[in-house]
Amino acid sequence: MAQRGLHGAAPERVLPGTAASPGIACGTAWHLPEEIVVSGPVPVEGREQERGSALAALYAAGDALSAVAAALPPDEAEIVQAGALMAQDPALTRAIEEAILADGAPAAEAINRATGAYADVIAAIDDERLAARADDVRSLGRRAARLASGRGMAAPPGSDLIVIGSDLGPADVAELAPALAGVALAGGGATAHAAIVARSLGIPMVTGLGNQVLEIVEGAPVVLDGSAGTLIAHPSTDRARRATAEMGVRVLAARRAHELRDQPAVTTDGNRITVLANVASPQELALALRAGAEGIGLLRTELAFLDARDWPSERDHTDALKPILSGLGDLPAAVRVLDFGADKCPPFLTDTAERGLELLIANPDALIAQLRAIVLAAEAHDVRILLPMVQTSEQVAHVRGLILTVARELQVQRIPPLGSMIETPSAAECAAEIASECEFLSIGTNDLTASTLGADRFAVNTARAHHPRVIRSIARSVSAAHEAGIPIEVCGEAASDPVMLPLLVGLGVDELSVAAAHVGQVRDWIRHLDGAETAGLARSALTMDTAEEVQWAARQLSTGLQEAPAIPATR
Ligand code: PEP
Ligand code: MG
Repeated sequence: MAQRGLHGAAPERVLPGTAASPGIACGTAWHLPEEIVVSGPVPVEGREQERGSALAALYAAGDALSAVAAALPPDEAEIVQAGALMAQDPALTRAIEEAILADGAPAAEAINRATGAYADVIAAIDDERLAARADDVRSLGRRAARLASGRGMAAPPGSDLIVIGSDLGPADVAELAPALAGVALAGGGATAHAAIVARSLGIPMVTGLGNQVLEIVEGAPVVLDGSAGTLIAHPSTDRARRATAEMGVRVLAARRAHELRDQPAVTTDGNRITVLANVASPQELALALRAGAEGIGLLRTELAFLDARDWPSERDHTDALKPILSGLGDLPAAVRVLDFGADKCPPFLTDTAERGLELLIANPDALIAQLRAIVLAAEAHDVRILLPMVQTSEQVAHVRGLILTVARELQVQRIPPLGSMIETPSAAECAAEIASECEFLSIGTNDLTASTLGADRFAVNTARAHHPRVIRSIARSVSAAHEAGIPIEVCGEAASDPVMLPLLVGLGVDELSVAAAHVGQVRDWIRHLDGAETAGLARSALTMDTAEEVQWAARQLSTGLQEAPAIPATR
C-alpha cells in the first residue's frame, strides 16, 4: 500500500528516471517557465522589426551564456561558451530571418524552429561530440526564445527548489545553481551537458523521468535521489527527514573536499586507508580526482549501456572505457563487468531473472567481448577486473579461464588482477573459497544489506546497513581476504556513511570506494578516526542484535566525524 505523503496529504509517488548527478535533495517543486505561446503570423509590415527583436534576443542569449561561462571553472566554461558561440553562427541567424521574413513566424517561434532544426541536423550526425553540440544549440534557443517573448528564467526567491522541466541547458543549471537543490527532467540523459555541470557543481539531477514529472504540482514537496535516479513526490515524513539529513552530509562533503585533497587519508594512529571513487563517466572521475581520489574502486560499466538494444560489442566497451581510463593517469581502476539485471536492465533484457555474473556467464559472447576490451585496456592502464554478484568460487575460476584464453589470443603482456564482489549473504558465507580464486575482494554493501535483510535497496535505507547481520558478513569477508593475503575494499554506500565508516575501519577494510561527491569527505573523516577506538567499536558491534544498538554504540565516533570543523562552501 502507498505510504501517506508529507503532512498526510497526497500519497507518496515514486517516479523512476536515470541517475544523472549523485546526491539527495529535499525541497519543493518549481517548474521552469512554460513553453512559448505562439500567436499567429506577423503581418508583412511588422516582419522587419520582428527580425530585429529575434536577433537581439539571440545575441543577448549568447552574451548571457558568455557571462555565465566567465564565472565557471575552465572545463564547464568551455561547454557553456560553445553555446554562446552558436549565437554568432550565420547559418542559424539566416534560418531565423527566413522563418520571420518569409513565413511571418513570431520571433520566439522562429528561434525555436531554427535552433530545433539546426540541433536535429547536428544530432543526426554519428559523432558523440557533435551530438552534444546539438544540446548546446537547443539550450541557446530556449534561452533566446524566452527573451524574445519577454519571459525570464529567474527562480523564485527561496532555496531548496527542485527545478522540473522537459530539458535544461548547462548554462541554465549553472545560472540557477544558487537557488537549486536538484534538477528533475522529463527528457535528457545522464551524459547530457547539463548533467556534467550539475555533477561538477554537486547538484543532484535525475533525467528521463517522462512527461508524468511535468504533472507534479508546483510547490509540492519532493525528494530527488540523483544516485538512485528517482523523484518522489509527496514523500513520507520519514523519507523527507532522511533526505534532509543526507543533504546535510553532502553540503559538508563539498565544503571540505577540495581544500584537503592533498592530505593523505591516515587515521590518527597511522593506518593509511586508500580512498577510491565509484564512477561511470569521465565527469565523475574529474570530480573525484579534484577531491583526492586515489583511483577508481568501482567502474560501473553497465550504466553506459542501460539504453542499449543489444549486448555491447568489444568496440562499444573500448569506446566507453577510453575517455574514463585516459583521465586516470597512473592511478588504478577496478573495471566491473556488466552488472545487468534487477533495476539495471536495458530494454533487450527486461525479461531476465538473472543478474550480474550469472547473466554474463549465460551469454559468453557478451562476456568475452567485454573481457577483450578490458584486457587490451590493461596494456596501457593499471586496470583490474571486478565481477558483480558472484555466487561461487567456480564462477570466478570459470572467468579466470576465459581471461587467460583472451589474453593468449590478444598476445598481451599483462593479465589484469581479478576480484569478486561480495554482495549476498551466501557469497559472504563462502568468502574464503571465493578469495582463494581472487587477487582482491570488494564488498557491495548496497546489495549485501538488501539481500541480508530482505529490504528494498532503493527505499533510502542507509541505516539498515548498520544491522549486526550485515556487519558480521562484512567481518567474515574481511577475514577471508586477509587470510588469503589479498586486499578488500567496500564500494557500497555504507563506505561514506558516518556510522559505518568507523566500523569498516575497525574491521580492517583496506580500501573504500565511494561516490565521487563523497571522496573528500570520507578522506577527511578517516583522519579523525583512531585505530583502537574503531576496533573496539567493531568488536562490540559483532556481538549485538539490532541496528539501533549499533547506532547507539557508534554515536560518539560518528557524531565526532560530523562535527569536524567545516571549510567555506565551494558552491
Ligand atoms: C553494491 O551493491 O553495494 C554495489 C556497489 O554495487 P551496485 O550499487 O552497482 O549494485
Ligand atoms: Mg551491487
